Amino acid sequence: MCKFLIASLLATASAFAAEKPNILVIIADDLGWGDVSCNGTSAVKTPNIDRVASEGLRFTSGYCSASTCTPTRFSLLTGTYAFRQKGTGVAPPNAPALIQPSTPTIASLLKQQGYATAAIGKWHLGLGTDQPDWNGDLKPGPLEIGFDHCLLLPTTNDRVPQVFVEDHRVRNLDPADPLWVGDKKPSPDHPTGITHRDTLKMDWSLGHNCTIHNGISRIGFYTGGMKARFRDQDLADEWVREANTWLEANKSKPFFLYFASHDIHVPRAPHERFAGKSGLGPRGDCIVEFDWCVGELMKTLDRLGLAENTLVVICSDNGPVLDDGYKDQAVELLGKHKPAGPYSGGKYSVLEGGTRTPFITRWKGRIKPGVSDETVCTIDLPASAAALAGQPLPANACLDSLNVLDALLGKPGAKGRDWLVQQDNGGGNFGLRQGKWKLIRQKPGPQAVKKGKAPADRLYDLSTDPAEKNNIAADHPEDLKRLQGLLDNAITTGRTRKAE
Ligand code: CA
Repeated sequence: MCKFLIASLLATASAFAAEKPNILVIIADDLGWGDVSCNGTSAVKTPNIDRVASEGLRFTSGYCSASTCTPTRFSLLTGTYAFRQKGTGVAPPNAPALIQPSTPTIASLLKQQGYATAAIGKWHLGLGTDQPDWNGDLKPGPLEIGFDHCLLLPTTNDRVPQVFVEDHRVRNLDPADPLWVGDKKPSPDHPTGITHRDTLKMDWSLGHNCTIHNGISRIGFYTGGMKARFRDQDLADEWVREANTWLEANKSKPFFLYFASHDIHVPRAPHERFAGKSGLGPRGDCIVEFDWCVGELMKTLDRLGLAENTLVVICSDNGPVLDDGYKDQAVELLGKHKPAGPYSGGKYSVLEGGTRTPFITRWKGRIKPGVSDETVCTIDLPASAAALAGQPLPANACLDSLNVLDALLGKPGAKGRDWLVQQDNGGGNFGLRQGKWKLIRQKPGPQAVKKGKAPADRLYDLSTDPAEKNNIAADHPEDLKRLQGLLDNAITTGRTRKAE
């Protein structure tokens, strides 16, 4: 009897590693906690996301690690806080690869366990050694850090260029029409959002006034590559099509797909069939488009019979923003919609709205549907995925990624993180949450530096003050000190995952 029990326990413990379930991470762009209707405050309906949530686990304290695109993506893949590496703020169009070849990533760890791996969608983590070689081989890139295949928007779509990168090359590039990308205007007569503002289909409100493509002016300049350029409205369709093709081709292997939608980042130009569907203008329509993407991918899993062998994670890369450089009526048509739900701040901020974002896991037949208040973060995906696949973590990589697999799977009594660090775009502002407590540390501004006096750290009780309005640091010196110690240690020791 005893022998039997032990054998059963051992079999259970190794069951996950033995079967190597598929992992599908769907990451939205700038989608706020309140932007999905399953979180209860949305004026936009997201039926497909809601369905995934009802079939899985919806986290009320799910986070991304930073409040802008590049650092969260860096950390999601590497499992290390972006603030540990300089130059991981929002990457410019000609940024070189920010993750060095052979750096262990969620993709390379899973690849070691025989997973097929692909990145489809927005990259925004740089390509190339010094800068991207747009007309040659674009490497290093995803294929040098563990992905077998990629179809990427190389930067972010408010920055140039509007081309797909497929594996190492710009797709459909005509060598007779080379692609040039730069930060200087290529010729005096090159049309820009300033010189040809009256021709724009979507006007800019701040910056975003360089090269015009598809009636939208961008950050940065480019010329050539006309056959390779995409229409903004077709991004979601193309990525869903590519994902479906790749999933079909890899259905019999364990796979890891990183599907990085551009919705709902600016410029918000959803496919025409979604235009006007939300009543909130392009921002809301892009939420509807993102929700459609989720629905299509779930349909594909069902069609291929993979829903019961695939862990699905839906998350976002930072909190919401309304006017992010284009006049797209996000502010004017907002109405009662609350993109950050009950939280303050959003994109660029270390207030809760900046990083507390939609976070859903689903694995049919394995995850008991429900709601979890455990704290989990996108930075934990490498360690958790590695645990799921039975891959040990390297000692000196994934320095801040914690194995919260049991919490992601909703196992009874499973704990998420005890605390987590929140960063901004790398500007030196930090948040730290532990249970109900939230610490905010602001980088001293120029005036404070002049006076030699840093702003005092602030402390909030999220259980009574989710909007972080009432600084109670003076009333709770011991809690303040404890959180300050955690943050100081996280920054100075270079890792928060204990060395094993
Ligand atoms: Ca983003």
